[in-house]
Amino acid sequence: MKTIQVVQGDITTIAADAVVNAANTTLMGGGGVDGAIHRAAGPALYAACEKFGGCPTGEARITSGFNLPAKYIIHTPGPIWHGGDHDEEQLLANSYRNSLALADEYGCRTVAFPSISTGVYSFPLDRAAQIAIRAMRAFLRSASHVEEVTMVCFDPTTARAYQRALNNSRNVNLN
Ligand code: ADP
Repeated sequence: MKTIQVVQGDITTIAADAVVNAANTTLMGGGGVDGAIHRAAGPALYAACEKFGGCPTGEARITSGFNLPAKYIIHTPGPIWHGGDHDEEQLLANSYRNSLALADEYGCRTVAFPSISTGVYSFPLDRAAQIAIRAMRAFLRSASHVEEVTMVCFDPTTARAYQRALNNSRNVNLN
């Protein structure tokens, strides 16, 4: 059974096969969830990320989980919201899709995501939630290894938005 679930919590404590980091294009750490993941994983993560020489928006890179309970960390820079006519929706979908594809390639069964782009990057929450759930559902249909995707939301407002998007997606045919 393939499942998508929404929980409220701190993604650095989640023992999934892979946790996703809402990174920036330098991959050299930042604030928000990125800072929390780097602090919890330890300095070896910084050294591993340095080797990539950055990552374009919407793409993804994978490292070990280092001191996190997760086996892998998948780093994806989500789009910065610039009003909606700069391919933000497509780029956000790419972040989810490419992160899931990497997780699948590495044989991960369980994957945990934070709410990519809805913090400092200011992507409207409900739209982001809809895009995320849609990308997850589409990916799970053809996944080889990934079976369980968890949205780990830091605050109750964010958790409610993703739960709403998940509930709504069950009532429509997404193809
Ligand atoms: P972005 O730059 O992609 O907007 P942010 O880190 O600013 O990324 O915010 C993305 C989301 O991650 C926000 O909802 C923020 O509250 C949340 N967040 C921050 N710290 C954590 C954490 N430790 N675990 C899960 N989510 C977190």
